[in-house]
Amino acid sequence: MALIIDGKKISSEIKDEVRDRVSVLKEKGISVTLAVILVGDDPASAVYVRNKKKACEYCGIESLSYELPSDTSEEKLLGLVDELNEREDVDGILVQLPLPGHLDERKVTDRISPEKDVDGFHPVNVGRLSMGEPGFVSCTPQGIMELIKRSGITVEGKECVVIGRSNIVGKPLSMLLLRENGTVTVCHSRTADLKAVAKRADILCAAIGKPCFVTSEYVKEGACVIDVGINRGEDGKLRGDVDYEDVLPHVSAITPVPGGVGPMTIACLMKNCLESAEKKADR
Ligand code: NDP
Repeated sequence: MALIIDGKKISSEIKDEVRDRVSVLKEKGISVTLAVILVGDDPASAVYVRNKKKACEYCGIESLSYELPSDTSEEKLLGLVDELNEREDVDGILVQLPLPGHLDERKVTDRISPEKDVDGFHPVNVGRLSMGEPGFVSCTPQGIMELIKRSGITVEGKECVVIGRSNIVGKPLSMLLLRENGTVTVCHSRTADLKAVAKRADILCAAIGKPCFVTSEYVKEGACVIDVGINRGEDGKLRGDVDYEDVLPHVSAITPVPGGVGPMTIACLMKNCLESAEKKADR
């Protein structure tokens, strides 16, 4: 029987741990604060921001919310980021992406102080990750590593194949697997004979953005399969990048969609905020 990795349960455990550590800081008179900036009225972004606020509430983290109109100028947005960078009471800054087209996302995320970059998107934190140094790690790949570790799956010495090389999932995930001594292969749309490469994997991670792309033809018997994909079909149903029913009989462990990787992202965001405040407390 395959292990169905329960992201809901594991993310709750992490949020509970964060809540406990937040209350320890509070006893020392230190509060934890996340500033969230939302520009425009993208409905999906509004839902993400709402969920982040809810998680903050649960963990005892203060959330400051900046909801700016979609015609906000870059200068104004960068000015707000500068102001939040300066504020001693703000531990984490998050700019909800995507930004409206006239705003340069790279420029905005690069402006966030690396010490408050709880999304882990700043080049300094990306560099720290690739050099194996401590820093903020982007939340979805960090969440995947938590799922793997807390399910008792070892990475060391394993063949790990990551399908997808985006800056927010594929690349940082491959760095984290490497850090845990996996033998890592990163695949993408130009990979020749993807099925054969994927079939080598003891740990196969799919971060492609194509519903049910990974079938049993891509999966080695007994592999652990991590499905990062979140694809909403025309029927309104969420589907992963993995054809779950087809793959299930062949795996030793698998993450479902929904309820696998999805809930881990916000839990790790909370963890990053907490750790930012803990560092402040140590200074
Ligand atoms: P991107 O679109 O940025 O990257 C997709 C990657 O998949 C690219 O590297 C691309 O290759 C590769 N790819 C596309 N088609 C193929 C193919 N036919 N064969 C092999 N590789 C292919 O997506 P993201 O990384 O941002 O997201 C991936 C998925 O994860 C999405 O479904 C997204 O919704 C989900 N996601 C889930 C999160 C969560 O919290 N659980 C958080 C973030 C994302 P190339 O580089 O060559 O174009």
